[in-house]
Amino acid sequence: QSKRLYSPAVIKEIIERHGFKFSKSLGQNFLIDGNIIHKIIEESSIKKSDGIIEIGPGIGTLTQSLCEAAGKVIAIELDNKLLPILEETLQEYHNLEIIHKDILKVDINRLIEEKLRDMEVKVVANLPYYITTPIIMKLLEEKLCIEKIVVMVQKEVALRMKASPGNKDYGALSVAVQYYSKPEIVVDVPKNVFMPRPNVDSAVIMLDVYKEPVVKVKDEKIFFGVIKAAFGQRRKTLLNALNSGIDLNKEDIEKLLEKTGIEPKRRGETLDINEFARISDEIYEMIN
Ligand code: SAM
Repeated sequence: QSKRLYSPAVIKEIIERHGFKFSKSLGQNFLIDGNIIHKIIEESSIKKSDGIIEIGPGIGTLTQSLCEAAGKVIAIELDNKLLPILEETLQEYHNLEIIHKDILKVDINRLIEEKLRDMEVKVVANLPYYITTPIIMKLLEEKLCIEKIVVMVQKEVALRMKASPGNKDYGALSVAVQYYSKPEIVVDVPKNVFMPRPNVDSAVIMLDVYKEPVVKVKDEKIFFGVIKAAFGQRRKTLLNALNSGIDLNKEDIEKLLEKTGIEPKRRGETLDINEFARISDEIYEMIN
């Protein structure tokens, strides 16, 4: 087996020799723990027929193990200072392609079409935390042929993605993530497995992406509009929150809530995904 890149001594030597400085604003906290890496690989159940998209390879710590397990790895890194390092650390892996780009600007559908055609595609990454939510939503909303997303995120965000109605962490992100996928927290991760140490605790979350969203809605734009309105005004009743967040008058909202059988005095954060779907379908019927 090749030299493991997660050893703190190895990482220090490499970054010193290249004069690399960690960038806080790019969310650079590199993994220095082999057990966590093994856990990520194991839980992703990677096969040789899998094509992996990694977001932010850093110096290649996780990438190395991904290359050994998968058929092909596409790693997208924004920081050009890491490119010469990756060229050195991962030179022996011929099933790897590094793309120098901002993940939020990558046409992932095209990338899959061009580079991972006919493979089962998984996203596996230790995400840059400053853009966790936009990355996750991009991966889910674009309805890509992705089977699984296994990512390290802030623990607080993992809890929000997984939360159920009534839980304090339940919000618009919970419903959006659970519309497209089944989330499961794989492992809690302490601060001391990163270099440098982040200020927050972390967790690895696995999103099993559904072939079709878990509920069928007549209009997704209305559905997400209802969710935004319901959670936008947490202390208000559902009726008042919808009244200020949706372009319909109060009487109409009362009428449509009555049709759905959902009590207008409830708070938005008590509604489950099916109830949000029922409301949004009634709105669709009313305005069409
Ligand atoms: N995978 C490495 C590891 O686990 O040690 C590094 C993980 S580090 C938390 C996040 C990585 O994402 C960094 O390498 C950072 O430069 C990169 N990054 C930050 N913003 C990015 C963006 N918009 N697109 C692609 N990569 C980005």
